[in-house]
Amino acid sequence: MNDHQFRDDVLGGLSPSFCGAKWYNATIWLGSGMTTSCHHPPAHKVIVEDVVKNYKMLHNTNEKKQDRQLMQSGKRPGGCEYCWKIEDMGRDAISDRVYKSKIYEIVDLQKAKDSKFDLDIDLQTLEISFDRTCQFACSYCNPAFSSTWVKDIKNNGPYQNLVSDGRNHFTHTHDSSQLYKFGETNPYIEAFFRWWDNDLHRTLKELRITGGEPLMSGYTWKLIDWFKTNKGKSNTQLAINSNLGFDQSHLLDFINRIRELPHVELYTSNETVGLQAEYIRDGLNYQQWVDNINLLIKSKSIKALHVMCTVNALCLDSLPEFLDQLVEFKKEYGKDFPNFTLNILRFPSFQSPLILPDDLRTTYKENLTNWLVKHNNNDYLHEHEIAHVTRLIDYLDVVKTPHSESFNQPALLNDFKKFYQQYDQRRSKNFVDTFPSLATWYNTL
Ligand code: SF4
Repeated sequence: MNDHQFRDDVLGGLSPSFCGAKWYNATIWLGSGMTTSCHHPPAHKVIVEDVVKNYKMLHNTNEKKQDRQLMQSGKRPGGCEYCWKIEDMGRDAISDRVYKSKIYEIVDLQKAKDSKFDLDIDLQTLEISFDRTCQFACSYCNPAFSSTWVKDIKNNGPYQNLVSDGRNHFTHTHDSSQLYKFGETNPYIEAFFRWWDNDLHRTLKELRITGGEPLMSGYTWKLIDWFKTNKGKSNTQLAINSNLGFDQSHLLDFINRIRELPHVELYTSNETVGLQAEYIRDGLNYQQWVDNINLLIKSKSIKALHVMCTVNALCLDSLPEFLDQLVEFKKEYGKDFPNFTLNILRFPSFQSPLILPDDLRTTYKENLTNWLVKHNNNDYLHEHEIAHVTRLIDYLDVVKTPHSESFNQPALLNDFKKFYQQYDQRRSKNFVDTFPSLATWYNTL
């Protein structure tokens, strides 16, 4: 069944706003005790007293239960605006609720529709973060997710004169993201491991570990060791997000530890090439990233490799070149090595592709259209990959305003300039030299 049929016949038959992720998927940040259904709705707090009594409340919060009730009756939860925006473009584009529902059995989707909205549901797919330790400090990340970003703010102070960022991503160290120090008892992590030992290892289809950088967390190694010492006890597929910013000996250590596990997939992020990639993802060595991808795939220790592209204002310049690089990998190693997704950045809004002036957006849209024409019949590309490129082209064409909460174009332009001026100074970078095709516009801001 193709994506459009699934949207109309399966989801449409349940309710006009139905999404399986609200029941069966979660991201949970155990360092801060926050959760969300997928990456798009804003995260909300898990009440610590609730999880001490009932570990399933790590996922089944009252907020999610209310959203489920809305979806069962065809209403749109406000937190899922990302999907509604894609669906309301009028281009028949496929939103993520299709991709994020399609992975579940239709019978389970029907059960979710028919269940009492306040029931505790067993997760099928889960992404967890143990802590925010990370050696990178990407421009679109912030101290809530990276200890290197924390150091930037501690050493240099808050970013100054940003006016559009109501969430203050760049002005403080986000201590609430790491409620418990290393060595202290974290009740969220305790609840997770109780849940895991008791039943999660049986019910969960996929466990994905994110960060920070998961390969820098001792809890990631603890889970890998659990799989090694409990062979055959769990059918859960393990997936790990990694920036792959390691020297090869560290990566080989990882490869050797996962080699005997039945099913491990690796997710990594990048969205452009060379120095532009290193500018956006501060800490990245692009050649090392490419070498590590080759090493990992050749080791045959993983079942699939996924590249997640966070589409922001700076990557569009060489995104087609980056997609060419991914196609080259596929030609060498097969269709799933890697497969990719294009996720359009919404926050911080001043880094959104929608900040760009019309002439640049038109150029980038045309470049992507040409790329698509060249690759439309390329057998190495999955249907969802073609669809992601298509919807990005539509997005650049149709959607004119960044996320509604924060739309104030002069403020966003101010912040774009002010942010990158300070980013250049703190990180010893140079925007104008790195992005020559943006330089004329940038200098007018
Ligand atoms: S944002 Fe979209 S994919 Fe995510 S939970 Fe909401 S409807 Fe589902």
